Amino acid sequence: TAVATPQVWFDGRMVAIDSPQAPLTTHAMHYGSGVFEGIRSYATVDGGAAVFRLPEHMERMRKGAELLGIDFDVDAASEAVLKTLRANNHRDAYIRPLAWLGSGTIGLDVAPLTQHMMVATMATAVHLAGKAARLGVSGWRRNPATSLPPLKLCGGYINSVLAKREAKARGFDEALFVDGEGFVVECTGANVFMVKNGSITAASHPDALDGITRATLVELTSAHSRPVSLQELKDADEVFVVGTAAEVAPIASLDEREYGDNPLTRKFQALYGRIVRGGDSTYSRWLTAV
Ligand code: PMP
Repeated sequence: TAVATPQVWFDGRMVAIDSPQAPLTTHAMHYGSGVFEGIRSYATVDGGAAVFRLPEHMERMRKGAELLGIDFDVDAASEAVLKTLRANNHRDAYIRPLAWLGSGTIGLDVAPLTQHMMVATMATAVHLAGKAARLGVSGWRRNPATSLPPLKLCGGYINSVLAKREAKARGFDEALFVDGEGFVVECTGANVFMVKNGSITAASHPDALDGITRATLVELTSAHSRPVSLQELKDADEVFVVGTAAEVAPIASLDEREYGDNPLTRKFQALYGRIVRGGDSTYSRWLTAV
């Protein structure tokens, strides 16, 4: 049962979700100087709940924080995640930690700025295999890693927001980023896989986020990780995208190319769904009990 007033963890305390306020001079609001994560917890088959691959998410967040000069304690942040889930009685939830630079200067030097962190959790509907998404090749290029490392830095996501907006305006569900040489990068919030003649490939690209779900699926399916061209993706038998929020999501079409009913993707989707809920003890090391 949900608690009456949702609680968030904010700078070390649990508070009602609508009570914290950030100054209008917040650096992160002006310049995107923050780092976040997208994590999920699941109601497990034993009647409890667990966070999927929490240490990996925390380590990625730590790297982003380090880049911005934000102090970040992995253990304290992990504890804050668990505390927030417990305070809200959440089992199936999406978890959003965010660390950001606050006030102190309107300039770009981060040294004088205050540092903050929050964790919010949102109940997610029980997973139902959704309708396969229609993907369109984006007119936008992905942030090149040489300009902005592929970490979950707040400002970097404006690139995803623009691509998502453009894809929706053109009648697609999601955008696929392709580089100047015709290689697949990733989607706005998910990594890309393909199936061809029964063999599974995970598209690798230096500008793509090193996804935790991608690593999970590579391990589960023994997928080969390598650069993939847009043409190869169009010639594939099945395409699917993976991410914490997307889980394993089948793709119905890519521009004009339509795929079939994605039988292997559906199999991996079910397998992933079982593992995140603690249905396979081989992978219990990926679960942190709430
Ligand atoms: N790429 C981007 C740009 C993302 O935002 C995400 C979601 N975090 C992913 C890929 C998938 O990463 P993960 O599996 O770690 O959630």
